[in-house]
Amino acid sequence: MLPSRWQAFSSSIFSKMSQMAAAHQAVNLAQGFPDFDGPDVIKEAAIAAIRGAFNQYAPSTGLGELRRQLAQRQAAQYGLQYDFATEVTVFSGATEAIFCCMMGLCGPGDEVLTFEPFFDCYPAACAMAGAVLKTVPLKAPDWSFAIEDLRNAITERTRVLILNSPHNPSGKVFTRHELLSLAQLVQEKNLIVVTDEVYEELIFTPARHLPMARLDGMRDRTITISSTAKTFSLTGWKVGFAFAEKKLTELIRIPHQYTVFCSATPLQAGMIAAFQLGQEYFLDFRELYTRRRDTLLAILRRHGFVCKAPEGTYFITADYRSIRDVPDMEFATWLTEKVGVACLPISNFYLDAAAASANLRLVRFAFCKQIETLEAAGRLLQERLPEALAALKN
Ligand code: GLN
Repeated sequence: MLPSRWQAFSSSIFSKMSQMAAAHQAVNLAQGFPDFDGPDVIKEAAIAAIRGAFNQYAPSTGLGELRRQLAQRQAAQYGLQYDFATEVTVFSGATEAIFCCMMGLCGPGDEVLTFEPFFDCYPAACAMAGAVLKTVPLKAPDWSFAIEDLRNAITERTRVLILNSPHNPSGKVFTRHELLSLAQLVQEKNLIVVTDEVYEELIFTPARHLPMARLDGMRDRTITISSTAKTFSLTGWKVGFAFAEKKLTELIRIPHQYTVFCSATPLQAGMIAAFQLGQEYFLDFRELYTRRRDTLLAILRRHGFVCKAPEGTYFITADYRSIRDVPDMEFATWLTEKVGVACLPISNFYLDAAAASANLRLVRFAFCKQIETLEAAGRLLQERLPEALAALKN
């Protein structure tokens, strides 16, 4: 019997859909991981670290040189100054950082706010801290929100707003105007903002990524979390990081110290090389991802999905109503099994999955794949979708 705090949780939808994709040899556009690896220079640096003297515990806060690089990058990229000794921490992925934030900032009964749909670790992180997650809707298809909904959801117990921009699964990038309205509210209500900015480099023109910490009065009440996973196409390395004012940093370093203690030392050493890559890497990265996005958009639209180009992330949310009007899990299972293309049902990104599934006809496709993989999915849709639909009528 699971302890009660875990009872609302089961195997993650990412694991479920990846297993289903493997079982049916489907093209896996469900779980967001690249089917290619990041730059060799990063891998070589980690290999050299393993062959060299980087195989014992790193400092719990992260290798000093990596934190120095991270602080430099945050200053150069966004004009945000952090002291690498006291305000920058390396975590085993952004997910661990989010857990440590909830553990460090919240006590039993405290409330955390976030927008819905949301990435699936937020409720779990809150539950482990004994905190209650409350949500405010982002409304499809444009994923807008009403600041009044947020204001109405804040109570005496609200401590934290988790803000994910660029946003998974919608692909929304919060605008300056939206961020300003949020900043004003959290200052008025004295909340801490924990940001999940792991898709910060996956931005498509004309969208711009603006970290919440950049806005007036926000630096010292924001914990900025990001990761190397998406930016350097090395999701399995689980090297994430957080920037926060000294006192907030102290709070999140404690749970980190007593859980993983430190992230894998040679992988941190490898990431020092990642942050030395020049601008061409990022220009190429964006150009390639724009091509991948446009390729998948064209394929999906050709086969009857209705979808907007995402402003950021490597996900497309697609309305499948004109193909089949069934709940999203049924649609995703059918598409995986009968067509050979796996996607994710969006209802899993909602607190009330049953209600979301009744109201929405949306699935998420990941385009962090080689163009050939996306084209293979296109061919499967072309060849098998008509047959699969015809079989339903018999
Ligand atoms: N962040 C990725 C996604 O949204 C994968 C997350 C995971 O597998 N836990 O698909």
